Amino acid sequence: MNVQQASFREASAEKTSEQFIPDRSSFPQRIAAVTAAAASEADDVDRDARFPQKTIDAARTHRLLGVQIPQAFGGDGASIFDITDMCYALGRACSSSAMIFAMHQTKVACLVRHGVGSAYHEALMRRVASEQMLLASSTTEGQNGGNIRFSSAAVEHAGSEISLVRNATVISYGAQADGIVTIARRDGDATGSDQVLLAITKGDYTLERSVEWETLGMRGTCSAGFELKFKGSSTQIFPEGYDKIHAQTMTPVAHLCWSSAWAGIAAASVARAQAFIRKAARGAGGQMPPGAAHFNAARMKLAKLRAIITANLDHYAAHEHDERALASIDFQSSINLLKVEASELAVETVMSAMRACGLAGYRNDGDFSIGRLLRDVLSSPIMINNDRILANIATTSLMSAVPAGLRD
Ligand SMILES: Cc1cc2nc3c(=O)[nH]c(=O)nc-3n(C[C@H](O)[C@H](O)[C@H](O)COP(=O)(O)OP(=O)(O)OC[C@H]3O[C@@H](n4cnc5c(N)ncnc54)[C@H](O)[C@@H]3O)c2cc1C
Repeated sequence: MNVQQASFREASAEKTSEQFIPDRSSFPQRIAAVTAAAASEADDVDRDARFPQKTIDAARTHRLLGVQIPQAFGGDGASIFDITDMCYALGRACSSSAMIFAMHQTKVACLVRHGVGSAYHEALMRRVASEQMLLASSTTEGQNGGNIRFSSAAVEHAGSEISLVRNATVISYGAQADGIVTIARRDGDATGSDQVLLAITKGDYTLERSVEWETLGMRGTCSAGFELKFKGSSTQIFPEGYDKIHAQTMTPVAHLCWSSAWAGIAAASVARAQAFIRKAARGAGGQMPPGAAHFNAARMKLAKLRAIITANLDHYAAHEHDERALASIDFQSSINLLKVEASELAVETVMSAMRACGLAGYRNDGDFSIGRLLRDVLSSPIMINNDRILANIATTSLMSAVPAGLRD
């Protein structure tokens, strides 16, 4: 065992942030341990539509839930590159686990980017790191669908005390989370788009289940509907308005993390198709089966998918502290189109992999089954519907300049 591995072992075994020594070089081993847990329960999680408890326990043991928290607050200070790599790796093992991790990290990113300077949010960052808290997201409300920039429920103020009652149509792993990051109208007089973001923790709120989660795919996200009732302090509201947080962090980080998780699912399907084609070719004395063309199509689509994600990642990372650049029409249009394009490409990749495998891919049993991956990836175009995104950015896209050069 080398020095790094030894320090990683020690760090993993520790339970408190005081004793924990951040060690970024250990990320690959730590995510490998979590993906191994995810792979081992992926089929059961899907079949029973149950929360991937073993995976999230492993993420806690390996301190990945707080990995993005800056070292000053007890985390490892993982970058957007680190986080999206982890989403991709998890996506290859278990789609639901990857999406849970992606959503959690998006909420943590809001804390990291917009919580510094607020005593409550700084304390919460420390808690996420030391207690390895799992944070859920509540944006969808009532009949609003994916219209995140409009809230119905308002924060009620009574001095420094506040309360909120929200018809939360979907909260993934709401029942299992230790806290929720949610949007709401600023107060009873505010318009629907005058929103704030709140970070609330178990003990501050109750959840009464209103809708079950019996779905085609992403079954382990346990995205049931709840009536959310919260009472707490006005300090739990992020100091900045949600409009800024949405543009600078919530949308870019969500789209990058989700796309990486979907790319992981697509990669898993390509790996299965490759194994199938290799086996078929071996069985035919080296002659390629007819499905080989679909395998190559799947590979090409996966390459495109990874390329658009990494291009957007580079762009975001280069400007993540530059408010003006993040607010620009070019960036906003690009990061929204990423979600649309990545989700469409992910679905197409898995479909091509399925066609490469033929009946072996269509079967629900056997080593080459693509069924679960296809059902899971089909959630991607509807998770904030692509039609809605395209309609919303139609005008800004028109204003965005067409690049004059290849690398502009
Ligand atoms: C796996 C998964 C996990 C999720 N987890 C969470 C979570 O943790 N928290 C949370 O808050 N939400 C979550 N959601 C919900 C998600 O964020 C969206 O709110 C939801 O997918 C939108 O649902 P919808 O299709 O009913 O709504 P809508 O967006 O209203 O779409 C309904 C229909 O209307 C069409 N449509 C809507 N607007 C337009 C438009 N402008 N132009 C043309 N057509 C349009 C769409 O094409 C679609 O056919 C999750 C969703 C999924 C799939």
